[in-house]
Amino acid sequence: MKIITTIPEMQAVGRSLRSRGQRIGFVPTMGFLHEGHLSLMHTARQENDAVTVSIFVNPTQFGPGEDLDRYPRDAAGDQRKCESAAVDYLFVPSAGEMYPEQPSVFVDVEGISGVFEGAIRPGHFRGVATVVAKLFHVVMPHAAYFGQKDFQQCAVIRQMVKGLNLDVAVRVLSTVREQDGLAMSSRNSYLALEERRKAAVLYRAFMAGRELFGAGETDPGRLKDSMRAIIQKEPGVSIDYIEIADPESLKPLGQAFPTAVFLGAVRIGRTRLIDNMVL
Ligand code: AMP
Repeated sequence: MKIITTIPEMQAVGRSLRSRGQRIGFVPTMGFLHEGHLSLMHTARQENDAVTVSIFVNPTQFGPGEDLDRYPRDAAGDQRKCESAAVDYLFVPSAGEMYPEQPSVFVDVEGISGVFEGAIRPGHFRGVATVVAKLFHVVMPHAAYFGQKDFQQCAVIRQMVKGLNLDVAVRVLSTVREQDGLAMSSRNSYLALEERRKAAVLYRAFMAGRELFGAGETDPGRLKDSMRAIIQKEPGVSIDYIEIADPESLKPLGQAFPTAVFLGAVRIGRTRLIDNMVL
């Protein structure tokens, strides 16, 4: 595995692979890698000739007072995991490499960037879309791999790719979960033992909502009430939002349908957790 830290070197690799007709699969991450990231790498490995992973904790997608400074990092462990997943190129640029000056060019995906996570974290999806667009131009992938765990992020990226006519296939893979259902996340490392025990409540609420829908309930209000009631029974867990939305536009629904999605965010102590489930 080759470790690359500069944009020109990464672009030279992309050009060279493409000139030899090699298909490039790309997995962008913020590091502190877990099984969720590894599942993206495994699929990228199967579907491409070369695999590039990036690790970059992107400052422009964090708001003031968010966890940029304490975001977990493990460079050595991440490197080992990428090697074990047969990654070819690990791109680890510094913030100065990605943003040599105060950025003045942004990608804004209007509409869906302003709801749910975007409403609570203003500017977050502008940061995400901008860095992913930049990384696409640096890595030059044919296909890029994302996790359904970040459902709204996937919708934003898809819309960006469509809107800018980017020649990259967006692949979204299912969420990898812990035994109790908690979606794997680098941020789970923030949870104290007692908090960790409570954290699967969001998953349990979605499962109950899905069961209720399966039994014939299609009223979004009643589905949401049942999920909220489950979460509210868990002391110390507060709800940021629990919603049922159209999977593409993320607009609220008058009536639930099978491809609709439950989206939720909760806070446990200082930690914010998000998850989702397609009905
Ligand atoms: P992050 O490092 O959190 O920015 O995540 C990098 C990529 O891994 C994103 O596309 C995430 O959606 C994806 N990812 C994170 N957690 C999971 C998970 N539990 N299952 C599948 N994919 C995930």
